[in-house]
Amino acid sequence: MKQVQINLTPAAAADEAVIRKISATLAGIDQSAISALRVVKRSVDSRKKNIRVNLTVEVFSEGDSEIPAISPFIPVDVSLRQEVIIVGAGPAGLFAALRLIELGIRPVIIERGRDVSLRKIDIAKISREQVVNPDSNYCFGEGGAGTYSDGKLYTRSKKRGDNTRVLELLCFHGANTNIMYEAHPHLGTDKLPGIISEIRKSILDAGGIFILEKRVTDLIIEGDVIKGVVTSDNEKYNSEYVILATGHSARDIYEICRNRGVELEAKPFAIGVRVEHPQELIDKIQYHGNSRGEFLPAASYSLAKQVDGRGVYSFCMCPGGFIVPSATAQEEVVVNGMSPSGRNSPYANSGIVVELRAEDLVKYSSFGELAGIEFQKELEREAWKNGGHTQRAPAQRLSDFVAGDNSGSLPKVSYFPGVTSSPLHSWLPKAIGRRLRDGLRLFGHLMNGYLTNEAVVLGVESRTSSPVRIPRDPEKLHHIRIKGLYPCGEGSGYAGGIVSSAVDGIRAAEAIDQRVKSSS
Ligand SMILES: Cc1cc2nc3c(=O)[nH]c(=O)nc-3n(C[C@H](O)[C@H](O)[C@H](O)COP(=O)(O)OP(=O)(O)OC[C@H]3O[C@@H](n4cnc5c(N)ncnc54)[C@H](O)[C@@H]3O)c2cc1C
Repeated sequence: MKQVQINLTPAAAADEAVIRKISATLAGIDQSAISALRVVKRSVDSRKKNIRVNLTVEVFSEGDSEIPAISPFIPVDVSLRQEVIIVGAGPAGLFAALRLIELGIRPVIIERGRDVSLRKIDIAKISREQVVNPDSNYCFGEGGAGTYSDGKLYTRSKKRGDNTRVLELLCFHGANTNIMYEAHPHLGTDKLPGIISEIRKSILDAGGIFILEKRVTDLIIEGDVIKGVVTSDNEKYNSEYVILATGHSARDIYEICRNRGVELEAKPFAIGVRVEHPQELIDKIQYHGNSRGEFLPAASYSLAKQVDGRGVYSFCMCPGGFIVPSATAQEEVVVNGMSPSGRNSPYANSGIVVELRAEDLVKYSSFGELAGIEFQKELEREAWKNGGHTQRAPAQRLSDFVAGDNSGSLPKVSYFPGVTSSPLHSWLPKAIGRRLRDGLRLFGHLMNGYLTNEAVVLGVESRTSSPVRIPRDPEKLHHIRIKGLYPCGEGSGYAGGIVSSAVDGIRAAEAIDQRVKSSS
């Protein structure tokens, strides 16, 4: 096998015959000698007007072994094995379950929400009837918060081996194998539910247990040891191992931890708004005035600046996507973004958020470690009031927001529940609103045309990461004091995003396996 680097126009990079011909030349072999080709990396370089696609290609020639297959999921029959309770069926919980099964341990997953198909009904009701089911919504339900998302799979985590395993397991359960080589892989909201169903099937086929529509309402702790959990129907589930993978929106779980003496810590997080532009405009800016044509993806952006001692940055950009209502209770408005695999909606949205630290939340200090959550709640209620006491989001044109002018009218947006014109500049807390407006002004210098009244600001983007950490032993990964309790994924405060939460779930499973082995 030889590895070659190719740099092509977007049209040429979409043509297999061209890739084959150039790969053969660069590998120094005849085209007829190629037994297989594998693209292992693909990225678009749009820094200059002459846009290019960079490919890293593995060229296999006659006599070479087959292209190495993606390592499969190899289950063990765990029906009669040691049981581990997993609370939450998001990426952290599901990947913990898959890894436990590979290691010969039986996962018992308890999830408050409905299965991934029924969840769609509850999600539709948010837009159509303005009703939020507190157990089944964009954040809660089988698959977790990332199910109805863009399914972006890139992560800043450097643990390449672990990340690759997550991508392999996703491919094994039906994801397009291009996620193995794209520089910025994503799945799309139309593909994710099918993958989640396949993961559930793997878990059940191996003898794992899946309990849906049951909320964990208490932890059973004796001294410094976990003994199990209690669910909403007052049933007790006993195990000396509990993985807590409930995500950062499970505010009740943090309350339960606090009531049961499970130590928590406040951590920095970020809050802001979601900004939506016409996708065509972002394409024009990023592709230097060219429209993207049929060979380039919907353009995205990533922006960051320091404003008055705090980072202001774009977060979870969804090209060709939709803004979605991500509240988990009725009297709050929370916005987030998603896109289908084709990223083909006419809108480009991104969170624009401001970093928050403990000293910014002094007013909420009476809430202790949960100060950040209290702040989030207050802001989400404020958005609900300003949106008109429904799931309609308060919105303002972007240049108006920056200039501090009211928007008399609003352009069409992708957010299905609808929007209400609202002066966000006047009611967002000053430390956030002012930094956002200064940051957006600076972004207008970085991307000529970004700061425009064709774009709209929707509030509030409040669930970017967990404001709370459930501190754990750095090596053994259980809670710093409570043995057998494994906080993991985004809600633990040690991960954020689909891939890093899934990696964290795998690590929790491996830590439990070590513990089981050493105590048997
Ligand atoms: C609209 C949207 C778009 C997103 N887009 C992306 C993206 O493109 N890329 C990306 O990397 N990340 C994205 N994210 C973030 C990503 O979804 C999360 O980082 C990730 O899902 C966290 O995984 P997790 O398993 O730790 O927690 P979660 O996915 O939050 O899962 C926690 C699960 O626990 C369950 N649960 C909570 N409390 C209880 C209880 N008391 N009892 C039983 N079950 C409980 C919940 O119902 C939920 O299913 C997006 C999030 C949203 C909301």
